[in-house]
Amino acid sequence: MNILETVVEPPEIVEVEANIETVACDGGGGVLGHPVVYLTFSQKDFVDCYYCGRRFVRIQKMQHPTDD
Ligand SMILES: [Zn+2]
Repeated sequence: MNILETVVEPPEIVEVEANIETVACDGGGGVLGHPVVYLTFSQKDFVDCYYCGRRFVRIQKMQHPTDD
């Protein structure tokens, strides 16, 4: 088994709130940045940026029931 030296960093995962429908990604700016694109979840819970591969994931916040 050949182990390549190339290190592929895993795509960054960005968590957003569950009620977000659209996210904007610019790759984080700098040399790794890209033109701003808007990504719509469209009924999925995640969407991948087709520029930089970042994955935006909608996180359902836990509802803490009032518990006295
Ligand atoms: Zn991006």
